[in-house]
Amino acid sequence: MSRDDCLPEENIRPESLAEFIGQEDLRANMSVYLEAAMDRGQPMDHTLFYGNPGLGKTTLARIMARELGVNMVATSGPVLERSGDLAAILTNLGRHDILFVDEIHRMPRAVEEILYPGMEDFKLDLVIGQGPAARTVKIDVEPFTLVGATTRIGLLTSPLRDRFGVILRLEFYAPEELARIVTRSAQIMGVEVTTEGAVEIGRRSRGTPRIANRLLRRVRDFAQVKGSGLVDQDAAQAALQRMDVDDLGLDQMDRKILGVIINNYGGGPVGVKTVAVAVSEEVRTIEDIYEPFLIQCGFIKRTPRGRVATAKAYQHLNII
Ligand code: ADP
Repeated sequence: MSRDDCLPEENIRPESLAEFIGQEDLRANMSVYLEAAMDRGQPMDHTLFYGNPGLGKTTLARIMARELGVNMVATSGPVLERSGDLAAILTNLGRHDILFVDEIHRMPRAVEEILYPGMEDFKLDLVIGQGPAARTVKIDVEPFTLVGATTRIGLLTSPLRDRFGVILRLEFYAPEELARIVTRSAQIMGVEVTTEGAVEIGRRSRGTPRIANRLLRRVRDFAQVKGSGLVDQDAAQAALQRMDVDDLGLDQMDRKILGVIINNYGGGPVGVKTVAVAVSEEVRTIEDIYEPFLIQCGFIKRTPRGRVATAKAYQHLNII
């Protein structure tokens, strides 16, 4: 294992809005909302971040807590199995603290319902006891900010979505922004990288900072073992080729998905479940991780009858 793989991911996370690269509009708006809340001495409005995995939702939630000078408690939708779990967390929050719920679209309905009065009035309606003896008690909680993150805003119920005062969408990053992220991470990790090396990694990172950081680590491994340790364009190209990451950043699974649609189903339309079975991957992983980028690159189209491969996909795979 290499040295900085032992360091937690936290070390390369930007800690302030100023350090956060890209997402210019989102950052500009967020800094206004934060300043306004601080000026009024109120908690920040409940905020929902949505966008693909690895684009910076958790990072932004942490930055928000830091800029506001409050604590953040992090949990995730699937972990909150019972309403009591959420009540326990909410009653322990300090004034204006942030509760961060990742994958908030996966929170059970019953848990979601006790969140509504919590978000609106900072009160919880808890049912104590069972059957005829059951009674409801109202408990006050400290004013807090709920920060939700989701890859699928469409799966949020509308009562929950409507209770967020701020809804911010994260976009895929431009290659130059990813190159800046690679340069910054390399500096923190103590890896020497040239501008061309950073550009090469950034260009092939599927618009996603988490992938840029991961590729940087692996390229660095190759550069260290097979080269001089310097991550320049040649080292990056050689390493990415060995990792089967192609010129546009598509990996083996991306190409497998395109290959199945084109070779097995005549280019589509084909349902995502069929594709998932053919490539032995979960439907959710295909929908959340692979498809958005393939759509963004213009390789796949979503139609009511299923997924269709475009002419560009045929060209990319050299299939005529
Ligand atoms: P998400 O919560 O959307 O899945 P994260 O916030 O965990 O994504 O980000 C994944 C990684 O990418 C983090 O380690 C963080 O360091 C890095 N990262 C994300 N956005 C940026 C950015 N704008 N600038 C620099 N690094 C970033």
